[in-house]
Amino acid sequence: TKESVKGFLRRNLFVLLTIAAVALGVMLGFALRPHNLTLREIKYFAFPGELLMRMLQMLVLPLIVSSLVTGISSLDSKASGKMGMWAVVYYMVTTLIAVFIGIVIVIVIKPGKGHRDSPVVSGSTIEPVQAADAFLDLIRNMFPPNLVEACFKQYKTVYKKTIYTKNVTVTLNLTDSLNATEAETVVETIPVSGSSNGVNALGLVVFSMCFGLVIGSMKQQGQALRDFFDCLNEAIMRLVAIIIWYAPVGILFLIAGKIVEMKNLAEVGGQLGMYTVSVIVGLLIHGLFVLPLLYFLVTRKNPYTFIAGLLQALITALGTSSSSATLPITFRCLEENNRVDKRVTRFILPVGATINMDGTALYEAVAAIFIAQVNDMELNFGQILTISITATAASIGAAGIPQAGLVTMVIVLTSVGLPTEDITLIIAVDWFLDRLRTTTNVLGDSLGAGIVEHLSRQELQSQDVEVGNSVIEE
Ligand code: ASP
Repeated sequence: TKESVKGFLRRNLFVLLTIAAVALGVMLGFALRPHNLTLREIKYFAFPGELLMRMLQMLVLPLIVSSLVTGISSLDSKASGKMGMWAVVYYMVTTLIAVFIGIVIVIVIKPGKGHRDSPVVSGSTIEPVQAADAFLDLIRNMFPPNLVEACFKQYKTVYKKTIYTKNVTVTLNLTDSLNATEAETVVETIPVSGSSNGVNALGLVVFSMCFGLVIGSMKQQGQALRDFFDCLNEAIMRLVAIIIWYAPVGILFLIAGKIVEMKNLAEVGGQLGMYTVSVIVGLLIHGLFVLPLLYFLVTRKNPYTFIAGLLQALITALGTSSSSATLPITFRCLEENNRVDKRVTRFILPVGATINMDGTALYEAVAAIFIAQVNDMELNFGQILTISITATAASIGAAGIPQAGLVTMVIVLTSVGLPTEDITLIIAVDWFLDRLRTTTNVLGDSLGAGIVEHLSRQELQSQDVEVGNSVIEE
């Protein structure tokens, strides 16, 4: 048994270290709070955490491209078609279920009833075409006109109001509140660098998928490129294996830093407190019951064993609040611990991390209905349906970076005529809810990979037979 304890420790070293890091981070954070550190001191203190974020983000770009290109080009068209179809079905079904759970919970708990807690900043009119603009931006970003630019910029439609005075022209950005009747208002679609690393992941995903498909269809001729991307992918994963040693330290400081920085939680009472509870309950139901049940129904395997293998990725998601920064770790957990076929993870994970966000969708629906409740606005069935659709779109459009969901909320709110400035009501708790929804997002992507693997096993096997399983060498 001494041996088995040793074996257990060795196998679970990183998970244990990561859990210890979270515990230490929380303790350290609370121990430092009474010292009232200045913002600058907090920034210095949290520096090791910032480094982890940067290291992970550094790998995301080559990882997305190389894994998608190799993943897809190593599948025959039948296998990739089937896998793609199941992935889309899984993404849509689970996202809609998440939205549904969110809507039911926020309607039952009614966190926004009663008089509103905080005063509102209001007075601006809402621009109704913004939801459509955001939709178009979503699609627009799928086709970046410049691949290099897509590595650091995405496109966004903005309205500008130009005021002419005698000799100078002043241009104001009017993205959020726009009076459409302004005669001098112009619409422009400009490249902007998003927050955080600002990668246009969606554009790169679409390009890499198409590129992979084409290389796959080139048979022997495409071999050089296949080898190149395969090798690149392997090299990146080795870098991940190194960074993983540093991850517990980074996570410790990410969490401790955030705890030192956060506002006094006691102030978050009343409506905002109930709102937080609603989101948490929804995420727990979705992440711990619905998704595992779905996994069990499809694969007949124990979902919680699968989730145990993901622990490190889930904790990293909690620490970084970015599903895209977590992607390298998600890959490792699925391939090393859960032994999911690399052809599946390489195909499914980058797409999932970019567009499949159950937690974000759930949160967007809860937040929109919460804001309606706070404003005493009765939503009819049609409006709730609109919220479900736009919350789904908003979750697809949200990048896998911290608090992206807060930005895409605008789509949901404007679609039913809710005041976008009321997003300020929920900002206070968003850093916290962001971490929880990101964890749910990563969980959804990972269980999805397991489910898609199971559903495509026949195609994968028949391809193994055909090529003597030489395509994916371990
Ligand atoms: N932070 C989330 C993620 O990376 C996106 C969001 O803000 O909802 O998955």
